[in-house]
Order: sequence, then C-alpha cells, then structure tokens
Amino acid sequence: MADIDRSRSLFQQAKSFFPGGVNSPVRAFKAVGGTPLFFQRGEGACLFDEDGRKYVDFVCSWGPLILGYGHPQILEAIDVAMRNGTSFGAPCANEIQLARHIRDGFPHMEKMRMVSSGTEAAMTAIRLARAFTGRDMIIKFAGCYHGHSDSLLVKAGSGAGTLGIPASAGVPEALAQLTLTATYNDSASVKRLVAAHPGKIAGIIVEPVAGNMGCVPPDPQFLAALREICSLNGMVLIMDEVITGFRLARGGAQEIYGINGDLVCLGKIVGGGMPVGVVGGRQEIMELLAPEGPVYQAGTLSGNPVAMAAGAATLNLLTQAGFYQDLERKGAYLESRLAPVLRKYADRLCFQRCGSMFCLFFRKGPITCFEQAQQCDTATFARFFHAMLKRGIYLPPAQFETCFLSAAHTTQDLELMAEAVTEVLGEIMG
Ligand SMILES: *Cc1c(COP(=O)(O)O)cnc(C)c1O
Repeated sequence: MADIDRSRSLFQQAKSFFPGGVNSPVRAFKAVGGTPLFFQRGEGACLFDEDGRKYVDFVCSWGPLILGYGHPQILEAIDVAMRNGTSFGAPCANEIQLARHIRDGFPHMEKMRMVSSGTEAAMTAIRLARAFTGRDMIIKFAGCYHGHSDSLLVKAGSGAGTLGIPASAGVPEALAQLTLTATYNDSASVKRLVAAHPGKIAGIIVEPVAGNMGCVPPDPQFLAALREICSLNGMVLIMDEVITGFRLARGGAQEIYGINGDLVCLGKIVGGGMPVGVVGGRQEIMELLAPEGPVYQAGTLSGNPVAMAAGAATLNLLTQAGFYQDLERKGAYLESRLAPVLRKYADRLCFQRCGSMFCLFFRKGPITCFEQAQQCDTATFARFFHAMLKRGIYLPPAQFETCFLSAAHTTQDLELMAEAVTEVLGEIMG
C-alpha cells in the first residue's frame, strides 16, 4: 500500500494557511499524533484519501451521513436546488419541505428556526431561554458539547456547586460564571445547583444521549428528573439533539426515552451533509424570536435552498419502513461480533452503544459521566486508532468521540471492523 505522501504534503501546505493546518481542531490528529488524512472522495460507507487508500468510515462526517456518501436521491435534490439558485436571502419553498419532515419527527417543535450550524442552534436556544425566563444562568453537563458559543464553552470546575471556569481562553469570566456545570447522569448534582441559585437559572441544556465524551447513554431516570426539575422551577429544558435527532429514531432520543424538551436543537443529519442547524420548540418561547419578538437572531445563508433540499431528501429517505430497526440490527451485530474480545479485556475496556452510536473506552466500564471518561487510557487509544487506520478503518481521532454507523455499512464492512478490532486489541493489550 502506498504511503500517505500526498496527505503529508497537503498538511504542510495547509499549515501555512490554517492554524494547526485545519479548520476544526479535532481533525488535526493532536490526540493521537501523526498526520491527518486528506480525503479525496467518499462512496457509500467508504472514504478514499488523497493517496488513493480506501477506508471503511465510522466517522460519517461526525454524524450527518446516516445514508453514507453519494446517495443518488440526495445528490439529485442538491443538483436540482443549486441550479435554481444557490442562495436567495429570501424565503423559499424548500424551507417548508424540511420543516414538515422535522415536525413529523418532533411534533413539539411547534415553531422552529433554520440556522447554519448546531452551534447557532444551541446559542439561540439559550438566548431564548434567558429571554423567556428573565434569568441569566444556564446549567450544562461536564463533557457535553453544544457548539462553541461563549456561554457553552464551559465545563466542570472542581465540584457541582462551583461556578463556571472558562474551558477556552477568550471567554469572559463574567459570562462563564453564568454557566453552571453539573455531572451527567447525576440529577442530584443538578438539584444542588438549583437550590444554590434559586430563581436565577434560565434552563438546562443537555445531550439526551451524550455523544461528545464518547457514547454515554442516559440513566432512564436522569432525563425524567431534568424534566421535573425544569417544570417545577420554571426553567427551560433544552434537548440538544444535534447528534441524536433522526439518528436514534425519527423523533430522536426524546421519542425513545419519552421525555420532551421545551426547546430542541437539531443539526448534522437534518442537513444531509450540508451546513444546517435548527432550533425549535414551544410556540410561546419561539415567538420571542425576531421579527415576532425581541430576541434577535439572523443569518445570510439561513434556510439556504440547497441545504434545505439536501436535508429534506435525507429525512424523506429515513421514512422507509424499518430504517431504524435495520440500523439497530447493524449495531447489535457489530456488538455481538466484538463480544468475545471485549469479554477478554473487560477489566480494561468498555464498549458502549446506543443504536448506531458507539465507542470503545479504554477503561473498565460502565462510563456514566465525563469524570470517568477522562480516566481512560488515551495513550492506548492512540495506538488503537493508528493500528485500525493501518487496517483500513477510519475512526474518530480521539477517545472522547462517538463512532457512527450508516445505512451504507454492509455486513462485510462490519465484519472487517470486528476482525480489525479483535486483531488490534490482541496486539496492543498484551
Ligand atoms: C456537533 C454538535 C453541536 C455543534 O454543531 P456544529 O454544526 O458543529 O456547530 C452542538 N451540539 C451537539 C450535541 C453536537 O454534537
């Protein structure tokens, strides 16, 4: 197999233009070392790098590509839309088409706004929650990611009662202090914060299945407790389903766990591979948005006709009978094929899966929160990652990320994955 000479050369060139050579940090392979691959094209469940090497892809562009690369119906929808105009900066019918699909999955998104990223959706959701309640504080969970807006780039301090500490330089301390951090799957940590700041907290934002600290499913009681805490205290519950919406089920994690947020954030899959985010929810909150209300939010490319068409075509394809059952079957199959090797190293490994989201933690499980995830053996993960890459399996280049299955993954792809994992673990676990 050829070396990755072209990727190396492109990375050198990229470094002269972009900080770290990339336009989004995790792409730089910092957590695992080595040179990031530059991809030339994708096809179904496979990626081809610039040196012509083929990989089975379990990143799926970090979640959006639930139908794999190059689905003909999505390409067709994009083609038709772009020929009619790549952007109008004015209303178009495609927006309504996508909105219909979204409300079909999430009936409690009584009103919604199309934006261009998950970051914008979450940023707007907390602005709405603050305006609706007249309160400034927000609760988020350590290890949950809601995009890179200032208020949400805050993770845990030393304890649940502590005020926020900016995880990023450049976030003003005064703003970070308004973001309180609780422990995922620990509703008592939330209750303590609410008791410590009576009448001050606008809402809670949560990934109903966490996908940004590896894959961490919620305890069944956890989401119900958040719902109750919010309802009792006049707080807004924001379900950030940017990953899980239309992935776990048509109605996302909220459908599966039967708990609804007051506001919902969507992104990734609903853009069909194009840049889209959506914030929506209860009408009385959503109608605070300009031009109806006083909460400002806008976007030159919001409701972009090409992105709306790609999203609508994708969500339309997800209505096929048995779609999510098939995806679950693939996940279960992979898990069953991995079971023997996982059992062998159960004292040092933990495989966690929720439908078509999964990850391998290099620590004894179960992992229920960020603190536990952080105790993983990231050095061994890095060796695992590179050994898998060598065998033609492309995984997220960091321990605290989730792998994704798409409808394009074949049994043969999963077989290849299972064999590679078994072989590599045998090699590196000693
Ligand atoms: C990816 C992600 C976001 C941010 O979406 P972008 O489109 O990258 O801005 C927000 N919330 C969650 C849960 C995500 O996984």
